[in-house]
Amino acid sequence: MIDSHCHLDFDVFDQDREQVLADARASGVTGFLLPGTQSKRFSRLQSLASSQPDIYYSLGFHPYFLDNSFDYCENSFREILTTHLDAKCAAKLVAIGEIGLDYVINISQDLQRDVFNMQLAMAKEFQLPVVLHHRKSHNDLIKLLKEAKFEYGGVVHAFSGSAYEAKSYVDLGIKLGVGGTITYERANKTKQALKNVGLDNLLLETDSPDMPLNGYQGRRNEPSRVVDVAAHLAALYECSVDEVARKTDDNFVKGFKVLPFCS
Ligand SMILES: [Zn+2]
Repeated sequence: MIDSHCHLDFDVFDQDREQVLADARASGVTGFLLPGTQSKRFSRLQSLASSQPDIYYSLGFHPYFLDNSFDYCENSFREILTTHLDAKCAAKLVAIGEIGLDYVINISQDLQRDVFNMQLAMAKEFQLPVVLHHRKSHNDLIKLLKEAKFEYGGVVHAFSGSAYEAKSYVDLGIKLGVGGTITYERANKTKQALKNVGLDNLLLETDSPDMPLNGYQGRRNEPSRVVDVAAHLAALYECSVDEVARKTDDNFVKGFKVLPFCS
């Protein structure tokens, strides 16, 4: 079982990161994808991925951390990617992300779209999948992916939305990330959308330390709880947790072209 989206590089895990990883592994978690959020954290992601056989990472500028003073030009991002892809643990860099559009935060939407398009162009150039962030932005995300004719796949993380939006991503070759949202009663529309697309198009995730599962509100989320997400998905699909784990692991390995559990 793989947690395809957890921010274990964040400071909130500094005191007990090894224990959090150990707890997750003891619960049956066999892989972790740590998405990039801002340049100052990129080297920490790289060192975590190079020191732990089951940690993978991606690099990108998350819309939440953008500011007008930073240089987001193609040349500097290309240089960063090239340096990471020349390093010993290059195989652990599996995607561009977390990139996307967040129309709830107070950051210029024009800036967000510019930075998103630049990163999408880099993903095309390096032939890497993307890890997408959305909030009230499905229409624009889908439009920009189509305009870019993006065909390297990836995942729209923490998917919540309609059956139509779910299908639009799947048609573009993008998987849907399933996290704590489905553990809440109110998520009926999202659950129905997820059921329609089939297990072949889903990945498991926690978004740790954020997006706590039902019953854990107000507490730090952790990758070990991806097991609970899998159990909810198994109930939705009326299948075994093993089948959910097998299919979503397979989707992860194929979608991000990783050698399973390589070191
Ligand atoms: Zn995230």
